[in-house]
Amino acid sequence: MAFKERVFSGVQPTGNLHLGNYLGAIVKFVALQDTYDCIYCVVDMHAITVWQDPAELPKTTREVTAAFLACGIDPKKHIIFNQSQVSGHAELAWVFNCVARLGWLNRMTQFKEKAGKDRENASIGLYAYPSLMAADILLYRATHVPVGEDQKQHLELARDIAQKFNNDFAQSIHAHGFGDAFFPLPEPLIQGPATRVMSLRDGQKKMSKSDPSDYSRINLTDDADAIAQKIRKAKTDPEPLPSEEKGLETRPEADNLVGIFAALANKSRADVLKEFGGAQFSTFKASLVDLAVAKLGPIGADMKRLVQDPGYIDQVLADGSDRAHEIADKTMNAVKDIVGFVRKS
Ligand code: ATP
Ligand code: MG
Repeated sequence: MAFKERVFSGVQPTGNLHLGNYLGAIVKFVALQDTYDCIYCVVDMHAITVWQDPAELPKTTREVTAAFLACGIDPKKHIIFNQSQVSGHAELAWVFNCVARLGWLNRMTQFKEKAGKDRENASIGLYAYPSLMAADILLYRATHVPVGEDQKQHLELARDIAQKFNNDFAQSIHAHGFGDAFFPLPEPLIQGPATRVMSLRDGQKKMSKSDPSDYSRINLTDDADAIAQKIRKAKTDPEPLPSEEKGLETRPEADNLVGIFAALANKSRADVLKEFGGAQFSTFKASLVDLAVAKLGPIGADMKRLVQDPGYIDQVLADGSDRAHEIADKTMNAVKDIVGFVRKS
C-alpha cells in the first residue's frame, strides 16, 4: 500500500542547541520543506526522561522553537509544535509499549550511554524512550525521518514496531478497511558530511547538549568571539591536513573539523581537502571560524530576537498543536478500532 509521503522529526528541549543538532538535523528539516509536508516537534516529553527543572523547561522549549523559526522553517506551510500538547503521543506510545519486546529495547545503545553505571536508578521513561519516538513518527504515519546518525538504531526499532503492529493486527487492520498495513515503515534520512558531529574536545564522543563542557560544542546562540575561541581551542593533531579523504581515517579530530567545514560550505570533504590539503590547522581553523560565524551569526541573532516575544512563540506552538491534533486524532481513532478499544463514535 502506498502511504502519503510525510516528514516528521523532533528535537529535545534539553539545553542549548548546538552545531551537531543544526548540521545533523535542522538543516535537513529546512531543505525538506520544499518537497514534503513536514511536522517538526519540540519533544518535551522525551526531555523529561532525565530530570528537567520545571522553571527552565518552558524556556528551552521556546528556544528550540525559536531555532526552528530562525533557521527558516515555515510554521504556516508546515507544522511546528510541542509534543505534550498532543495527547496522542502518550496514548500511542502505550500501545507500542505492548508491541515492542524487552529484548529489542535491551539492545539500545542510547539507553546504555545515558543510564551509565547506575542503571537501576534510570527512569522507566528513559528505557521506553524509543517506543515513544516510534509513536511520535507513526502518530502522523510519517514516511521519512531526518535525524543524525545517533538516532539510526531508534529508527530501526520504529520500523520493527510498525512491522509487528501490522502483522499482529493484520486481520483487524483488513477488517477495518485499512488494507494490508496500517503503518508505513518510516525511512531514516541520514545524509551528508555531518551526520555525526563530534565533540570539539574529544573526537570519539558526539557533540551533545548534555556534555558538561561548553567548550565541547558550538551553541547556536554563541557570539562570534565564543565561536572563534572554541574553534581555536578545538583538539587537533600536529600533522598538516591531508590532501585525500583516506588521510582522515585515523584522525578523528581532523575528520570532524573537515566534516563541519564541508557541511557549512555545502561541499564534500574531498573538495575541502583539495583547498586545504597540506595546510596547517591554524590556517584551516581561521577559515572555519569565518565560515561558522557567517553561517551561525544571523541564526543566533534571530533566535535571541524571537525569544524576546514568548507570546508569539507560544502562538506558533498552539496553532501547530491544533493542526497536529487533527491528524493525530484520526490515527488514534483507527488504532483504537484496530486494537479493539470501545470508543464513542
Ligand atoms: P541530548 O544530549 O539531550 O540527547 P542531543 O544533542 O543529542 O541532546 P537531541 O535533541 O537528542 O539532541 O537530538 C536532536 C537531533 O539532533 C536528532 O536528530 C539527533 O540525531 C541530532 N543530533 C544530536 N547530536 C548530533 C551530533 N553530534 N551530530 C549530528 N546530529 C546530531
Ligand atoms: Mg540526543
